[in-house]
Amino acid sequence: MALKIWLGDKLVDEQDARISVFDHGLLYGDGVFEGIRIYNKKIFEFEAHITRLYNSAKGIRLDIPMSREKLMEATQKTVEANGVIDGYIRLVVTRGVGSLGLNPFTCETAMVFIIADNIQLYPQELYEKGMKIISATTVRNHPLAIPPQVKSLNYLNNILAKIEALDSNVPEAIMYNHEGYVAEATGDNVFTVRKGVVYTPPAEAGGLEGITREVVIRLAKKEGMEVVEKNLTRFDLYISDEVFLTGTAAEVIGIVEIDGRIIGDGKPGPVTKHLRDKFFRYAHGKEK
Ligand code: PMP
Repeated sequence: MALKIWLGDKLVDEQDARISVFDHGLLYGDGVFEGIRIYNKKIFEFEAHITRLYNSAKGIRLDIPMSREKLMEATQKTVEANGVIDGYIRLVVTRGVGSLGLNPFTCETAMVFIIADNIQLYPQELYEKGMKIISATTVRNHPLAIPPQVKSLNYLNNILAKIEALDSNVPEAIMYNHEGYVAEATGDNVFTVRKGVVYTPPAEAGGLEGITREVVIRLAKKEGMEVVEKNLTRFDLYISDEVFLTGTAAEVIGIVEIDGRIIGDGKPGPVTKHLRDKFFRYAHGKEK
């Protein structure tokens, strides 16, 4: 079924949702976006995603041409128009149409578009058996070059690492920063568990401040677990009892092998399973 897409200031049919070839989002990857889950018709962590979007935009001096309230309303309308119950929203703000030069100020107004669709999930088996991944050789963007807090349309750094993963027949890769510390995975944040303590790299390591990451930290603390933000090396991952990834699409997924090395006992561990279960209950409104 053809989708209804929010484009600019209204809903249009999918085939009419077109962007100019002069849009700087396309010409330069100049823009920001969010990926958001819908669980049982409810937009998950909506406020947090909208806040991150406006902060990303502010970070690159992009004026979103809609108030926060209007943008939230438009997102809600797009979800409803497509009758999405469980799905995924892609909310994109590009710099808009401008001249061929880099200058973003030749673009008069930013362009907003919103897609609400079903979501492509990893197979259930992957959650039960855990995922095998590799370390990418592609170094994560230097945090002083492109601020990792900005969820921008420039994903080439992550795409290069994703290609390495796919060439090795695995779905994901760990990205390390210029100092060799774990930054994140190509589209997810990284956690480890060692002797009952949960570790995750600090934002300064170069990963996106994931909203799933925030929720999982909150849920883990509520469960009485100790959560420590600390730089992690490749070796720290190898000797962890558990490793798991968090992200809007992947939710919480256990990692059982990295670079051919078995993590823990080669199965998703008890903390991973517990937090995945807590996350599921929280996302479906069964627990606060
Ligand atoms: N890192 C990167 C590079 C991402 O693109 C994402 C989102 N897919 C994440 C981490 C996880 O963030 P969130 O939990 O907000 O989806």
